[in-house]
Amino acid sequence: MKNTKICGRFAPTPSGRIHLGNIFCSLLAWLHAKAQGGEIVLRIEDLDKVRCPRPNADLLAKDLEWLGLTWDKGAYVSEDSERYFQSERFDIYAEHFAKLEAQGLIYPCFCTRGQLHAAEAPHLSDGRILYAGTCKNLTASEQVERLKTRQPAYRLAVNDKPITFVDGNYGPQSYNLMEESGDFIVRRSDGVYAYQLAVTIDDALMGVTHVVRGCDLLSSTPMQLYIYKLLGFTPPEFLHIPLLMAPDGRRLAKRDKDLDLNMMRQQYDSPEPIIGYLAYLAGQIPKAEPISTTELAKIFKPQLIPTDNIAVPPQLPQL
Ligand code: GLU
Repeated sequence: MKNTKICGRFAPTPSGRIHLGNIFCSLLAWLHAKAQGGEIVLRIEDLDKVRCPRPNADLLAKDLEWLGLTWDKGAYVSEDSERYFQSERFDIYAEHFAKLEAQGLIYPCFCTRGQLHAAEAPHLSDGRILYAGTCKNLTASEQVERLKTRQPAYRLAVNDKPITFVDGNYGPQSYNLMEESGDFIVRRSDGVYAYQLAVTIDDALMGVTHVVRGCDLLSSTPMQLYIYKLLGFTPPEFLHIPLLMAPDGRRLAKRDKDLDLNMMRQQYDSPEPIIGYLAYLAGQIPKAEPISTTELAKIFKPQLIPTDNIAVPPQLPQL
């Protein structure tokens, strides 16, 4: 019998102070793991080191601790803590990138941003661009010629077999990558590995069995499942959660300082009102009132999490 210990994860991008939406996601990931006696790993997603300087990550770790969202291994707590920062894992990404290259599925793409966004480029209904495969058929000598003047990005060739999975909150999903993303970038032209590749390798190597994250990443999941398959990794289970929205319909954003923890800590002396408010939004308690993470873990039911995105006021009520 398979007896894998449940392992969830926090995978924050420390591009600013965490906001209510980030806390909502971390809380549900934590509850999902802890309610089943599982562990949490903290991985800092600082692929973009300029946007994500180390002091931001340090503050983020302190914020999670203050909220009672503890983790069992990973950044700041494991002996090899540095290896849980994506910026310190490029050697691992390179090794797996080479495995995909050896399968003949990677090719350089010299398209400029302008070419990709050009009017004739196919756009999907949600605004994403479907890569038309422009650089796929370049000959070796054309590639050599272009390499002289331009650093390419690298794409992973997809196929048109459907990729299906059952999301823990949104149910059965089926995607065809050829129609919904096209060949996608796994290494950017500046040498930075792309999120889709890094997150897959990391979740697999860090033993993550359950991914709980915002539903904006639901459509990234098939790309990641495709990489899991190519690299021979066992995929985790996925549970996507609704996003928290500002009253004007925007997603809460760190750059807009929407309901960030700095603002909320001026309003509250303890985390329980924030946790209680989020637990109420997540359908876990009938009314918004202060509660601790430990109390919540005892009553957590993932099937009560809503699917529609949730509008929140610019300031939380005084609980
Ligand atoms: N680092 C991403 C974020 O902070 C999350 C990635 C993931 O959960 O797969 O939005």
